[in-house]
Amino acid sequence: MPALSSPPEPGVQTPRTPLSAPQKALRKLGLVRDIDLALHLPLRYEDETQIVRLGDAREGDTVQIEATVTACEVTMRPRRQLLVTVDDGSDTCVLRFFSFYPSHQKALAVGKRVRVRGEVRGGFMGLVMMHPAFHSAGGELPSALTPVYPTAAGLLQAYLRRAVAGGLARADLSETLPDDIGDNRQPRPLWSLQAALSYLHHPAPDVSLAQIEDRSHPAWQRLKAEELLAQQLSQLTARRERAHLRAPVLAKADPAMASRRRPLHEQLLAALPFALTGAQRRVGEEIAGDLARPVPMHRLLQGDVGSGKTVVAAMAAAIAIEAGWQCALMAPTEILAEQHFRKLVGWLEPLDIRVAWLTGSQKKKERRAMLELIESGDAALVVGTHAVIQAQVKFRNLALAVIDEQHRFGVAQRLALRSKVDEGGQEPHLLMMSATPIPRTLAMSYYADLDVSTLDELPPGRTPIITKVVADSRRDEVIDRIRGQLAQQRQVYWVCPLIEESEALDLSNATATHAELSAALPGVLVGLLHSRMTPAEKKAVMGLFSDGLVGVLVSTTVIEVGVDVPNASLMVIEHAERFGLSQLHQLRGRVGRGAAASACVLLYSQPEAGRLSEASRERLKAMAETHDGFEIARRDLEIRGPGEFLGARQSGAALLRFADLATDSALLEWARALAPRMLDRHPDLARRHVARWLGGKSEFLKA
Ligand code: ADP
Ligand code: MG
Repeated sequence: MPALSSPPEPGVQTPRTPLSAPQKALRKLGLVRDIDLALHLPLRYEDETQIVRLGDAREGDTVQIEATVTACEVTMRPRRQLLVTVDDGSDTCVLRFFSFYPSHQKALAVGKRVRVRGEVRGGFMGLVMMHPAFHSAGGELPSALTPVYPTAAGLLQAYLRRAVAGGLARADLSETLPDDIGDNRQPRPLWSLQAALSYLHHPAPDVSLAQIEDRSHPAWQRLKAEELLAQQLSQLTARRERAHLRAPVLAKADPAMASRRRPLHEQLLAALPFALTGAQRRVGEEIAGDLARPVPMHRLLQGDVGSGKTVVAAMAAAIAIEAGWQCALMAPTEILAEQHFRKLVGWLEPLDIRVAWLTGSQKKKERRAMLELIESGDAALVVGTHAVIQAQVKFRNLALAVIDEQHRFGVAQRLALRSKVDEGGQEPHLLMMSATPIPRTLAMSYYADLDVSTLDELPPGRTPIITKVVADSRRDEVIDRIRGQLAQQRQVYWVCPLIEESEALDLSNATATHAELSAALPGVLVGLLHSRMTPAEKKAVMGLFSDGLVGVLVSTTVIEVGVDVPNASLMVIEHAERFGLSQLHQLRGRVGRGAAASACVLLYSQPEAGRLSEASRERLKAMAETHDGFEIARRDLEIRGPGEFLGARQSGAALLRFADLATDSALLEWARALAPRMLDRHPDLARRHVARWLGGKSEFLKA
């Protein structure tokens, strides 16, 4: 057993003492403080409180028995296995082990009394348990259910259980909810945190497991209320703190006053080859309103793929530049950043605005030149990847930072951007853009610290994309369809299966498909894009595709969110059943950008054993039925629940571990109503509450 019970002597453990493997694993799970351990809740429970007679066990039950070993042998047929027969007086049962050690045979020798726990199955020869847990019989039975915790490699349940029990005993779980919240419509949760946690870690054997599982139990309600309140408090605190910060006032130049020439944003508008949509104008006004205020903007611009966020960002940049300030625009990948760069250069350089370009893969000399342009202020706009926020990049006067695909940036990076404060202590305004919309009302109530603008209208003239769900067995027909598109001088994307956690497999699949399509389409240049390629290689392939030289682009999911090749009219997504709904929607958004009718083929494969999962089928159905990103987001929410939906990767918002916004909107409203009053009347309780839940992470929520 790992020696949790014998900690190093006091004073011995300096920060330099290396952590043991299980300690490291705990850290990896984020379990550092006592309260973190106390909040690490079981995945499920095992009932070790009773001994069941084999004669009473039903097939499919997971039971604990006590019995005597009557036979123990290794057989070789049909494959090597250990077969142990036990008898408890009411019936016998065979324990089967396909992997075992000599120690198994010793502990399960004929005549031993053992306590065994496992699922009972009916077999040809009577009852069977596969790989049951066992130890020698006797010893007291526990009085509560045994928790099974989410764990990590190198961390045994037994160790984790003791660590959690220790954390639970030591953590300060004193009440943080004020007494005087009676005027609040929602009553204070019935259970105290202390009671809720003790209960959820060690429920009595007679609990309603259903209530625990669906998280409707009052103990769960208390935890969810606490969590949502912590989120609301910390976001509201951040909002209030931000109100004291200063930012440059970027008022739109009044066209009537600017007698010398038209203001820049108007010139830009006039030069665009299209008119703004109503939604773009409205959102542009919302942003302009923020920029004209002396506090930093903190706004999320969400809009479906293709809704035209870039031009909105360009208009905001024009306002800042007109006022004599610099702007930065960051995208998560080099391909995306370069597309923005090209587009913005095309729009702004004719208006005499210098645009600088910064990326990690740049040559030293070019980079130095760019840094000079930025520091001198000659470049009014800087476009690039993460490179834009590195410490060496000195802006002369940065007033506005735009982050595209905000969810793909780490919080630390967003904080770094905001640290580019000017000499007068003014912070840049921040505009975050996302094509992963979350339903507007949800966004508005959840993001207490963000203002949300929504582009809910696509530019006119888009032809709708036809989406077909097709079995992989009809692959040949799909390839025929590709031929048809190529014959019309159109281009095609083929996205290869996503294999979680295996980049190598991703790659071999993409390579195989590339070979297959190259063979099936003689005379057509088939390109390959995957995550192992260098930025320069990716850029080269993308360049050939943009220029129309590559007809079919085979890619792992590195088809960057946001690439814009209007001539591409067909998107094939292989193993579409493995993708998330938002991901499918993002990918599909790569086509249908030009005037040509476009299609998306979702190829799926039946798993070897049986049918597609319910969730996979629903996702594919949703994709075929709707093209509206917000509707897709809503269905996504239904299919997988917002815990994941609002996951750190998707939104950059702190992950909700316990609450579920789809079902807990009442609790969210409760927390939203309570948070401002708690901050005003009980700031100490509020601080303690936030520290308990978010600890060191609350800093991050401000980003
Ligand atoms: P996204 O919101 O996905 O980032 P983009 O900004 O890349 O979308 O815009 C998608 C395409 O639509 C671009 O080619 C862009 O120039 C074009 N576009 C943007 N606004 C309009 C508009 N109002 N009318 C016509 N085309 C537009
Ligand atoms: Mg975009």
